Amino acid sequence: MFTKILIANRGEIACRVIRTARTMGVRTVAVYSDADAKSLHVEMADEAVHIGASPVGESYLRGDKIIAAALSTGAEAIHPGYGFLSENPDFVDQVTAAGLIFIGPSAGSIRAIGLKDAAKRLMEKAGVPVVPGYHGEAQEIVLLASKAREIGYPVLIKARAGGGGKGMRRVEHPDEFSEALSGARREAKAAFGDDRVLVEKYVDKPRHIEVQVFGDSLGNVVHLYERDCSAQRRHQKVIEEAPAPGMTPAIRKAMTDAAVKAAKAINYSGAGTIEFIVDASQGLKADRFWFMEMNTRLQVEHPVTEMVTSTDLVEWQLRVASGEKLPKTQSEIALTGHAFEARIYAEDAAKGFLPATGTLHHLKFPDAIPEGATVRIETGVRAGDAISPYYDPMIAKLVVHAKDRQAALEALGAALSRTEIAGSTVNTAFLAALAADRDFCSGDVDTSLIGRHQETLTIVPPPTGETAAAAAVAASGAGASPPSDDPWSSLAGYAHFHNVARRIRLKFGDDDIVTKVSLRPDGRFQVALDAPYDSTNSHDFRAAPRIARWPGHITVFEGAVGYTFAVPDPLARADEAAAGVGSLRAPMPGLVKLVRVKRGDAVIKGQPLLILEAMKMEHTIAAPHDGVIAEIATEGAQVTDGTVLVRFVEEHNDPSAVAS
Ligand code: ADP
Repeated sequence: MFTKILIANRGEIACRVIRTARTMGVRTVAVYSDADAKSLHVEMADEAVHIGASPVGESYLRGDKIIAAALSTGAEAIHPGYGFLSENPDFVDQVTAAGLIFIGPSAGSIRAIGLKDAAKRLMEKAGVPVVPGYHGEAQEIVLLASKAREIGYPVLIKARAGGGGKGMRRVEHPDEFSEALSGARREAKAAFGDDRVLVEKYVDKPRHIEVQVFGDSLGNVVHLYERDCSAQRRHQKVIEEAPAPGMTPAIRKAMTDAAVKAAKAINYSGAGTIEFIVDASQGLKADRFWFMEMNTRLQVEHPVTEMVTSTDLVEWQLRVASGEKLPKTQSEIALTGHAFEARIYAEDAAKGFLPATGTLHHLKFPDAIPEGATVRIETGVRAGDAISPYYDPMIAKLVVHAKDRQAALEALGAALSRTEIAGSTVNTAFLAALAADRDFCSGDVDTSLIGRHQETLTIVPPPTGETAAAAAVAASGAGASPPSDDPWSSLAGYAHFHNVARRIRLKFGDDDIVTKVSLRPDGRFQVALDAPYDSTNSHDFRAAPRIARWPGHITVFEGAVGYTFAVPDPLARADEAAAGVGSLRAPMPGLVKLVRVKRGDAVIKGQPLLILEAMKMEHTIAAPHDGVIAEIATEGAQVTDGTVLVRFVEEHNDPSAVAS
């Protein structure tokens, strides 16, 4: 076994690898960028080496610096985690050439399967079923369009170098093909530096079921059953589970056999995943699953497999990479119970799952869930850490395991409703709604389920008077005593206005809430709320609601929903009013990729105005209402969070006045 390894990654996966290495007595070296200087993975590792500036191109993708860090610290092997350099065969070659061991498959295996088009050709040859489609070299638009017609609409355009749903477009109709192709190519070029695509049949009622495989250097390959990752938004997984609902022994055998065959076809060693797309329009059928791609690394969702097979896949990776044989044979790997993983992201579900940034001022994960269930949190952040625009906005993976699917679902719901995050917009309420969705609960999942139920899954009921009152009480103490986590622990601030009503202004979204808070002689708070509540509430707040206080804000938690109220600073108001009227601001830092309208154009609500590229994805910025464009950002401009992208002509103005 190695004595020291370097982890060429950050965030939760770096922390995850460090944890297992430590239990095995293997020392760890972390690498970090400027933005991560104080991050958890750096703190956890035995040693840490700074490798560059925050953008990934200057740090986590700098193979040369990472290899130099391994050599200078005396690490013998490099664990790539997922993403970044994990599936880059040139990096594997460089690691090997430097006399180090890459904890993963050989460069040859990655090359054979890394590009989706070549992988499909190879699998066809190995006798593994693949999705009908075009995966050739030629890329002329006319050819691709005619292939699409042959395949039959709807089709899916995919970047051959794709990953994470990037560079992928579903096309319903031939008229939309060329625009979708341009979009897919632009996104692929930006994300992977390769804009070549394949076109395949869009599978009806598709389910995403993948098989975990593991190989060693002695030629053994086993599978560790399947995971269902059909719950997706923007083609990205949000809740994964193992085993797949509705799986039968016969279909499981067909799928796992095909997966092992695929891994053997490329002499696979290490952890890998064979992804299948399944046509579930008539339930699961042994002849209706097709190879989609192979991921030659540890997957984000590997914990669900670990939970149902009682294995530690990172331990397996280290053992296999150091030359040992697989820790278990196929017959020794048993499947027990059911596991779910929910990915907690900083993102705004109601705004099309727009990634968010922010500082996690308050972060609390559940420690207790229903008896008989296990909860496991995989995270790379602590309270006070920032979600920066540089990296994936995942905050944590919440993993539960219980005796069966029903019990695991209950545990998932309970764990989500006991998670508290404030400081950034997060998707916990959405995840909880999904975990309670009727179709999801009955196991009737497919990749469009979230899209179909988007409205109900992303709507959060407005805060009740009770919730607003709780926020008002918390806010009323904010200026009077030093902030503490529990405003009810110290009521000292009230002493000097005992029996005096205090006026507290709050903002929830765009709504102003005016309240009057007073402390009655019996120690209870009385809160009077103006419109939209118009009520007088008297609340016994000694049974403290779940509250987080953070700069300028109060968050009240109810189940998995965090209601965040801004407590406006009266002095800042004039400023705010001057800047905000009739304009649209960048929701995050990014690049203005494409501008579709110009000054003086009349636009209608929902009309796409420009495309902002941020976090390697394209985001369409649409008009929030009808109006006339007074100003619009320039194509190619790099904008920061909050930059005005579009200014509308004030309604009472004459549009012709700005067109000049
Ligand atoms: P990426 O590598 O970008 O993640 P994948 O090829 O793994 O792309 O596909 C991502 C998701 O897109 C799948 O999980 C599935 O939901 C959907 N998908 C992929 N191929 C098809 C297809 N042919 N028909 C329908 N949906 C598909």
